[in-house]
Amino acid sequence: QFQKLPTVLPQRRLTTAAQESPSADRHEFQAETRQLLDIVARSLYSDHEVFVRELISNASDALEKFRYTALSTTGGELAAKDRPLEIRITTDKPLMQLIIQDTGIGMTREELVNNLGTIARSGSKKFLEELKQNQQAAQTSSNIIGQFGVGFYSSFIVAQRVEVYTRASTPDAPGLRWSTDGSGSYLIEEVPDVEHGTKIVLHLKTDCREYADEDRIQAVIKKYSNFVGSPILLNGKQA
Ligand code: ADP
Ligand code: MG
Repeated sequence: QFQKLPTVLPQRRLTTAAQESPSADRHEFQAETRQLLDIVARSLYSDHEVFVRELISNASDALEKFRYTALSTTGGELAAKDRPLEIRITTDKPLMQLIIQDTGIGMTREELVNNLGTIARSGSKKFLEELKQNQQAAQTSSNIIGQFGVGFYSSFIVAQRVEVYTRASTPDAPGLRWSTDGSGSYLIEEVPDVEHGTKIVLHLKTDCREYADEDRIQAVIKKYSNFVGSPILLNGKQA
């Protein structure tokens, strides 16, 4: 006599679209994050270029974290321990893209969810509190974005879609892609051929195409990145 085994159904989310790969996992942004993204994306904030500073500073932090981890472990636990530690920036005018890549610590799936899907950052929390208290500021939101800084989310000042390719620094870490158009949800999926570290691909809004221009980016880097402790390469050359 056969014992009937309970049927285990694969857990697929109803929101997962048919064309998404099996490893794809769609997540809703936390309500506060959605609110913040919405404000950032629609803001009339004139000082657009601060997003470059924010993304370079995150890349620099990630490289510092890798250096620190490499010093405090014996080596076997870290993948590609001897890789060059640098920030690579690529402009692509025809595709209207700006790509900011680092060879730093990278992120796991869990870290992607916790770091990019929720608002942990104190500056962003203050920013939202300020908006709640000051309805008039909410109309323009211009100064407060600059005042508190919105970190990674400042990407959405200039980008209509953002992809984050990342691979943590442990030997068996998979390559992951996080992507969103900044509205309700984001997608995380496993993808092949991702370098250790993080690569952020900004698909620029039409009126922000200037950030796919090498000279423009060079000028912004010069302005903000004096204190970055790692080499910055712009289209393969020292920036
Ligand atoms: P903050 O830098 O103040 O923590 P951000 O919004 O700029 O806030 O970034 C949120 C978090 O996302 C960071 O703390 C970090 O954990 C993660 N993160 C962002 N960019 C990267 C990156 N290039 N590499 C690794 N982790 C990153
Ligand atoms: Mg930051």
